[in-house]
Amino acid sequence: MPFYEYECADCEEVTEALRRMVDADNAPECEHCGSKKTTRKVSIFNASSDSGSMPEMPSGGGCCGGGCGCSH
Ligand SMILES: [Zn+2]
Repeated sequence: MPFYEYECADCEEVTEALRRMVDADNAPECEHCGSKKTTRKVSIFNASSDSGSMPEMPSGGGCCGGGCGCSH
C-alpha cells in the first residue's frame, strides 16, 4: 500500500498515512490540529530508510583505505 504525506494548511505539520491509491486524494484530517485542509505532498513507495544500505567508503582518502598494503 502506498505511503503518503499530507501537509496541513493550518499548522503546517505533516500527517503520514498509508492509503489505497484510490484514496490518495481523499486527504485525512490533520493529526496535529484536526484540520481538514491537508494536501498530499509526496508519495513514498519504499518507506524503509536503512542507513546500513550504503556501501562503506574507504577511510583516509587513499586508493584503498589501506587494504592493498600500499603506504599512505
Ligand atoms: Zn494541522
